[in-house]
Amino acid sequence: MQKRSHPEIREAVAKLCAEFGGSYWRALDEKRQYPTEFISALSAAGYLSILIPEEYGGSGQPLSAACAVLEEIQYAGCNGSSCHAQMYIMGTLLRHGNEEQKQRYLPKVASGELRLQAFGVTEPSSGTDTTRIRTSAEKHDDHYIVNGSKVWISRTEHSDLMLLLVRTTPREECAKRTDGMSVLLVDLREALADGLTIKPIRTMMNHSSTELFFDDVPVPADNLIGEEGKGFRYILDGMNAERILIAAECVGDARYFIERAAAYASEREVFGGPIGQNQGIQFPIARAYTQMRAADALVSQAIELFDSGEPCGSEANMAKMVASEASWFAGDTCIQTHGGYGFAEEYDIERKFRETRLYQVAPISTNLILSHVATHELGMPKSF
Ligand SMILES: Cc1cc2nc3c(=O)[nH]c(=O)nc-3n(C[C@H](O)[C@H](O)[C@H](O)COP(=O)(O)OP(=O)(O)OC[C@H]3O[C@@H](n4cnc5c(N)ncnc54)[C@H](O)[C@@H]3O)c2cc1C
Repeated sequence: MQKRSHPEIREAVAKLCAEFGGSYWRALDEKRQYPTEFISALSAAGYLSILIPEEYGGSGQPLSAACAVLEEIQYAGCNGSSCHAQMYIMGTLLRHGNEEQKQRYLPKVASGELRLQAFGVTEPSSGTDTTRIRTSAEKHDDHYIVNGSKVWISRTEHSDLMLLLVRTTPREECAKRTDGMSVLLVDLREALADGLTIKPIRTMMNHSSTELFFDDVPVPADNLIGEEGKGFRYILDGMNAERILIAAECVGDARYFIERAAAYASEREVFGGPIGQNQGIQFPIARAYTQMRAADALVSQAIELFDSGEPCGSEANMAKMVASEASWFAGDTCIQTHGGYGFAEEYDIERKFRETRLYQVAPISTNLILSHVATHELGMPKSF
């Protein structure tokens, strides 16, 4: 087995995760409930504030450490989707917020007193074409009035704050279609009392997804992050960290599936011998392992570039794509290896299989990554 970075962090995360076994996740999955106790334990241990600088109460560690935490959570059979956003959403506030905003929010996010877990970009009619968002914020003296709707926004029912991308200038009036969007830090508790409606969306996995409806929701002008009109760039800035962290989660999922598949293939006897001696069973597991290692190498490359402050857009995207495909293939192989038992809920494999499928669609779908690689790396013409 290869050597993994941050062994102490991994060991401590594994210990914490051991307290939250399969039965815990199965019970939540059945009722589509949020893992509050798990999140509280992670917050108390300081893992969710690992990227927040020490001056704001976090531990100021590099992205590699945050990746180690999320990878181990997935490898342990837990589900990091309930908390991963707390790690990267604050990056927009950290990079583009003013000092007053950072002092007001970051220490409380670091201590776990405030949850900044929601990130509102996607809309029903815009889909992946973010420049077509219609949710608007109109300035009135010391506040904005927000109107519109968002879809697929995760964890809004379990977050105190949300970063929200809005149009402050209509697309038609902007020189560039990426201009005229702004980022607001919305206090969800206040907004819920004043025009925001949250509607849960039940999905094939437990992901706390919601639809949001804004009806004249006031947001203080002080909560504008950075400059008005530059929001799209601020959001883009945060996407590399998001993609790399999720790629690390997929590597963790792949390791989970491969380890289980290899163990079961060696134990389960059919026709008088272990099924794993048959190459029809053995080779897909070996292939899944090889794909996981290749994904892991790309993730490491993206982390290295990110942590040294170098551009890593393509690497972050490619790492996310390859890792999400590796985890999916490993999951599929794990089910096949287990035969009928792969479908039994008590084995947890089918739950992890459903959970890991998401990452070929969100936060960015595979086609859009391929388009990025084709145009940015290979210089081919853009289709949109
Ligand atoms: C469980 C879940 C949680 C999510 N959480 C959040 C969240 O917290 N915040 C948030 O803002 N969003 C969130 N999303 C939204 C997610 O980022 C989008 O679903 C995703 O970006 C795809 O957008 P879409 O669903 O509108 O698909 P569309 O944009 O409608 O695309 C549909 C399909 O067409 C393909 N496609 C579109 N355009 C092209 C093209 N030009 N060339 C080739 N193929 C194309 C896409 O790749 C995709 O496969 C979440 C989604 C899910 C399912």
